[in-house]
Amino acid sequence: MNATRYALCPTCWHAGSFQFSGQQHWPPAIARLHGLPPVVTLWTCSNCHSTVSETDLLPAPTCRRFVWRASRPTATRPERAK
Ligand SMILES: [Zn+2]
Repeated sequence: MNATRYALCPTCWHAGSFQFSGQQHWPPAIARLHGLPPVVTLWTCSNCHSTVSETDLLPAPTCRRFVWRASRPTATRPERAK
């Protein structure tokens, strides 16, 4: 089993590696009631060490998405100051 994964922590908003922490087993009736899978994998954040369930992990952000708009060239013509 893969014991490490890369994701964004919903507790500290740190994007990093998560260590496999265990599995949470829910009785089928409880799982259905809360809309959860019967077996939820638990991960430990490498930054804040809080335990986060598989369903709460956020996908790791891609850096490019934050930069592409900022690098758009400006169309203003340079004017000579008198
Ligand atoms: Zn964290």
